[in-house]
Amino acid sequence: MKVLVTGGAGYIGSITSEVLLNRGHDVVVFDNLSQGHRAAVPSAAEWVEGDLSAPQEIRDAIEHHRPDAVMHFAARSLVGESMDKPFFYLRDNVVNGLNLLEACVAGSVERFILSSTANLFGAPTSAVIDEQAPIAPGSPYGESKWALERALNWLSQTKGLRFASLRYFNAAGASEMRGEHHSPETHLIPLVLQVAAGQRDHITIFGDDYDTPDGTCIRDYIHVLDLAEAHVLALQALEQGNRVYNLGNGEGFSVRQVIETARVVTGEAIPEQMGQRRAGDPARLVASSDRIRQELGWAPQYPALEQIIDSAWRWHQHHPDGYTD
Ligand code: UDP
Repeated sequence: MKVLVTGGAGYIGSITSEVLLNRGHDVVVFDNLSQGHRAAVPSAAEWVEGDLSAPQEIRDAIEHHRPDAVMHFAARSLVGESMDKPFFYLRDNVVNGLNLLEACVAGSVERFILSSTANLFGAPTSAVIDEQAPIAPGSPYGESKWALERALNWLSQTKGLRFASLRYFNAAGASEMRGEHHSPETHLIPLVLQVAAGQRDHITIFGDDYDTPDGTCIRDYIHVLDLAEAHVLALQALEQGNRVYNLGNGEGFSVRQVIETARVVTGEAIPEQMGQRRAGDPARLVASSDRIRQELGWAPQYPALEQIIDSAWRWHQHHPDGYTD
């Protein structure tokens, strides 16, 4: 199939593009480079520099390239930032997402895969979160993704658009060629590795007074290549109907456990300091991914936290300053 990937210059979008190309799909990357990197875009992909806030730009891209499917990664994606700047999220993610959906319907694109989020579930009480867990977005970011999930439901009913919503827990790790590079970096694993590499003095732990065994927040880290694989499987499965999947490894690790594992993987000391809680952070987010395992046979190839951090560390060592474009 030909897949138009919005945000294909970003972290998860570029690695999913790489995997799609390896599986014989054609890829068109559409990205405004506001957060992504041109160097992250695989050379075998067609490239369109465009902005989803300009409806004509995405309409033209879809009309010109006539994709069979769209994978939508382009979005603002930080829970904490969304608590400070709600309009960035409520406007940019929702309005730009709707521009894209309208262009898809106008261009007769029949398949759509949305990058959604565990933040739909707010601060859940269950030990593991499956697709039946109550939706209660924990931030403007989560709300923006829920708005697009709802829009997809209606466009499926009224326009026949087939969709998959993939609710990522904590994406991490790297492929051989591509990794995580945000400016500024806010994510735990890349920051911890910058400390290991001597680029930062210490890692700040955002609170140790949560209701968890060691007091720090627990997250379910999933290798970005396993996440990419889920997109490939969901794309094929759309022929049999819409899909909603939670994507994680089903195991939670605290901030302290992540730092400790990074010490083992890198052999570095990684000094830490205690800081304040970050707004919008729930104590514990761990996925049940039983549904995608059972329905699509998805099975993570890199489930261990050591493997995830090791792949990120290898990429970091080869690209100490990330992408340099
Ligand atoms: N975190 C932290 N210090 C940092 C960055 C993150 O303690 O410098 C914590 C954060 O509070 C959360 C976890 O690490 O509990 C994962 O955060 P990240 O930003 O990587 O992903 P998120 O869970 O927000 O998607």
